[in-house]
Amino acid sequence: IFDEYTIKSLVRPVPDFPKAGVTFRDITPLYRSPKAMRMVADSLIQRYVESPVTHIGAIDARGFLLGAVIAYELNKPLILFRKVGKLPGDTLKDTYATEYSKAELEIQSDSFAGGEQVLLLDDLIATGGTFLAAARLVKQLGASVYEAAAIIDLPDLGGSRKMQDADIPTYSLCAFA
Ligand code: IMP
Repeated sequence: IFDEYTIKSLVRPVPDFPKAGVTFRDITPLYRSPKAMRMVADSLIQRYVESPVTHIGAIDARGFLLGAVIAYELNKPLILFRKVGKLPGDTLKDTYATEYSKAELEIQSDSFAGGEQVLLLDDLIATGGTFLAAARLVKQLGASVYEAAAIIDLPDLGGSRKMQDADIPTYSLCAFA
């Protein structure tokens, strides 16, 4: 069973990282715990196992780790949403602002043919910029976001609210308010 306390106790607040005034939520202790990671994976698998999700869209880089486990268990294709410049062939890019800087996300243009129901996965929602960019790429290729799911939401940064305002169904296993 999912124990929110266990999960949250494995997320370490790091003041002033990556720059002054920002408290970074470090989830590497969580990734180091097989028990906690099993809880996270099992919860997400249970949530989507009987859903109409056709594809898993995983966000570079900590979302990849989650995406691989979920795609394997659900037996669905894994689509990589990468930091720019890593993917060969025809690609689509989306530039967006983050908490700290500007970022760009890229996918291969043949990732979707149209009509797919995509589950987007990442470790954490902050300003929502990353998931919103991923959702725009999904839509540009004629697919739909079934849901965007993360382990952790930071609701004070307004990201999950912004995603819901953009009609992107949004889910997180826990939140730090
Ligand atoms: P957003 O685009 O502002 O929602 O930021 C989310 C993305 O940045 C995710 O890919 C996260 O991995 C990363 N990120 C932003 N803030 C944090 C944090 O405090 N801890 C861990 N990852 C973060």
